[in-house]
Order: sequence, then C-alpha cells, then structure tokens
Amino acid sequence: MTDLQIHLDRQKEFFQTGATKDIAFRIEQLKKLKEILVENEQLLIDEVHKDFQKSAFETYVTEIGLVITDINFALKNIESWTKQRSVSTPLVNFPSKNFIITEPYGSALIIAPWNYPILLSMQPLVGAITAGNTAILKPSELTPHTSSAIERLISESFEPEFLKVILGGVEESSTLVKMDFDYIFFTGSTRVGKIIMRDAAERLTPLTLELGGKSPCIVDETANLEISAKRIAWGKFVNAGQTCVAPDYLLVEKSVKKEFLKHLKTAINQLYGDDPKESPDYPRIINDAHFDRLASLLSDGETVIGGESDKEKRYIAPTILNNISLEDKIMQDEIFGPILPVLDYTSVEDCISIINARPRPLALYIFTSDQKLEDRILNTVSFGGGAVNDTIAQLGNHHLSFGGVGASGFGSYHGKSSFDSFSHQKSVMKKPFWPDVPIRYAPYDDLKLGLVKKVLK
Ligand code: NAD
Repeated sequence: MTDLQIHLDRQKEFFQTGATKDIAFRIEQLKKLKEILVENEQLLIDEVHKDFQKSAFETYVTEIGLVITDINFALKNIESWTKQRSVSTPLVNFPSKNFIITEPYGSALIIAPWNYPILLSMQPLVGAITAGNTAILKPSELTPHTSSAIERLISESFEPEFLKVILGGVEESSTLVKMDFDYIFFTGSTRVGKIIMRDAAERLTPLTLELGGKSPCIVDETANLEISAKRIAWGKFVNAGQTCVAPDYLLVEKSVKKEFLKHLKTAINQLYGDDPKESPDYPRIINDAHFDRLASLLSDGETVIGGESDKEKRYIAPTILNNISLEDKIMQDEIFGPILPVLDYTSVEDCISIINARPRPLALYIFTSDQKLEDRILNTVSFGGGAVNDTIAQLGNHHLSFGGVGASGFGSYHGKSSFDSFSHQKSVMKKPFWPDVPIRYAPYDDLKLGLVKKVLK
C-alpha cells in the first residue's frame, strides 16, 4: 500500500469516528487555522516573496487577509449553517414533516494552483473544515517555498488523520485524483480540469472545478475614463497579471479609445513608476516556461506601453498592446500575465458577439454610466461572476459566491458557498403511521385518478 493510500485510509477511519461532525471540533480547527495565519504572517509573506517577489501588501491583501475574513465569517455563521432546516409540506405529502440535514462528504481532496499559493490552498480548506470533512491538500510545485511552509505549518498544528498536506507535482496529483475521495476541489487550468474530471468520473466522485479563461473588460464611452483606467490597471497588473479573474482583454468603444489609452499609460506609471523593474511592488513571472510563453505574445499588435522583458529575472513589464485583431495569437488562449491587448468596438452587438463567440469566461467587467447598456451586457452574456466599474474587488465580498460557468468551471465557493460546496444536502420526509391515506395503493380506479389529478394539477 502506498503512503498516500495510508493517509487517506487514516482520514477515512477518523471521519467514521464522527469527530469532524462535532461543531465545537470544527470551530476549534478554524480558530487554529486562523492562528497559523496570524502568527506566521511575516513568514508566509517572506516565502511568497522568495517564490515570485510579490510585495507584502499584495500577499496580505489578496491572500492572508481574505482567508482570515473568510474564517471569521465561517466562525460567525457555522451554528446557523449546520442547523437542520425544515421545509414546507405540499398537500400530496400531508401529513408529514420535511427537513434537510447538511452532512459533510467525508474525505476531501483539494488541489491548488501556484498563482495565489496561500489563498487558493487555504480558502477551500476553510470550506472543508466548516462543513466537517477531513482533507488532503496538494499545493502547487511551482511555489516550492510557500508550499513547503504550508506543509510544515499544517503538520505542526493538525493531526494528519484530519488535515494532511502532500507536496509534489503532476505525479502525486494524478495518483491522488484516482483514489477513493468523497469530494474533489480543484483549482487550475481548463486543460488539467478536464483530466481531473475524467479521473473523478471513474469513481463518480463529486467535484468542483475552479478554472480559468479569457475574461473580457468593456469600457463604454459613458465611463469615467480616468477612474476606469486606474481600476483596470490595478486589476490587470496585481500579481503581474497572474490572476485567474484579471481582465484578459479590453473592448473599448472606438470614440474614446485614444483618450482611454492615455489614462491607462498614466495609471500604470503611477502604480509602478518609470521603470517597473525597480518597483518593489511588481512581482515576477513564476517560471521560465511561463516567461517564454508570455514573451512570445509581446510581438502582437502595437506596443503602447511596456514590452520590455528580462529572461534572467523573469521580468515582463506591464504592457498594453493596441491594434490587436481577433486572429492574433494573444487572443487565442488565456494570457495569465502582465500583457493587456486592446480591441475596439463601435456597436454593443459587436462587443457581445466577440465575447459570446468564445468559451464562457470566469469573469466579466464593464465600465459604464449607462444603465441600459449595463443591463444588456449582464443579461445577455454568460460569465462566472464580475463587476461593474471595478475589477477583481468582487472577490473581497464573501456574500458573493465565486465560480465559473462552462469552460471556466462549475461549482462555487467563498463564504456560505464554501460550506455548501463541501456538504451534501440530505433531504428527509418523516410520516406518522396514522393516517395512512389509501389513495396511492393499487388497485387503481377512475375515482382515485380523478382525485389525484385534482391534487397534482
Ligand atoms: P495547472 O492546472 O497547471 O495546475 C494546478 C494543479 O494541478 C497543480 O497543483 C498541479 O500540480 C496539478 N496538476 C497539473 N497537472 C496535473 C495532472 N495532469 N493531473 C493532476 N494534477 C495535475 O494550473 P496552474 O498553472 O497552477 O494555475 C494556473 C491556472 O489556474 C490558470 O488557468 C488560471 O486561470 C487557473 N486558476 C483558476 C482559479 C479560479 O479560482 N477559477 C484561480 C487561480 C488559477
């Protein structure tokens, strides 16, 4: 038997004891997880910096802080979320009581990507713990410093039969997804998402897929161009564009494009100065393969700002590319880096058909003061989630569930959605022995059929 199988078997045995279902136990574990983050804040910031030079501010605001607020929200609500819920009884089931018991799936597997190595490992863990599961977490091999720190901190504070971190890459991950987990939560690329789903299908393991895609960002002529440029530049270049919900490409109304590009240049300059390479706030590309992939996109269109790169430092400047066509290489796949192509449109129909001709995106952003246009876009285009007049900030609200649709994934989490995703809703009807209404029993006749039709119409 392999070590991985031994870990899973131990977790299954522990789950069977019922310990994780105890609400006091879950609360204690959530508090422990929060303590780890609070007490090791600086260590985690340092480890992420070693992996790709992310600033302390970004690591706190986009990772540690978000997990802490999600834990606080879960602690505040766990009692009410876990209560048995009564639902009403239709006439056909009268008399009876009907209720829903929320139960944990059992042993959960969480596979995380590298781009927000703390957030995307820990936030699903919050859901797994709150819902009463055991969990095995496989963080990314591309952030070795952060992933090792997470492994050490979790193993120091939690029993492995409850939470266990497995370090490794494709080999470990592929072995894990073929094992008998009760639920899989995967965050990563659409390509690997398909592999995970195929493996999960072999055992009919329920799963959530948090994937990527090309998220459009529309700027209409009624938008405040200066503020829009600032918010788009921030959302695109935070984490050096290595964000699943970053605006992938811009669709700017033709009449305002020139002016908007001026504001965008100013906004980038204000964020990172004349030489972003020297800015302590601008991260690096995660590895050579991603650097090479991104560098090959720099020759598309016409460079408005940026375009510089340094392979040795894995640096790519915040770059805006104008005069891009839909056939250009940069418009084929998710960019996942600090390069922003700009297209223009003259009619909203064109804009909608460009978006709808592609797989459904994880996020969509629209900058406008035109309520009708906003309604039209929000109601005709399908996307995972998004924002009006901002980018990425929607992730900071744990009342908004987060997830994709179509090729950007399915299922959701954050706040109560995390609890729901890691739970099974067990529906139960309870009947008294008396009265025992005879109508449903054979032999049937027209009178019975007539009565049933009256009730079920
Ligand atoms: P990835 O799909 O390459 O890897 C994700 C995880 O899967 C890693 O832990 C990796 O070890 C594992 N893995 C890789 N190949 C595997 C295989 N064949 N079988 C089993 N496991 C395998 O993704 P990545 O490069 O780490 O992350 C970037 C992608 O993730 C982007 O597409 C991005 O949009 C997406 N993403 C999505 C979200 C979201 O919340 N929807 C968040 C962050 C990133």
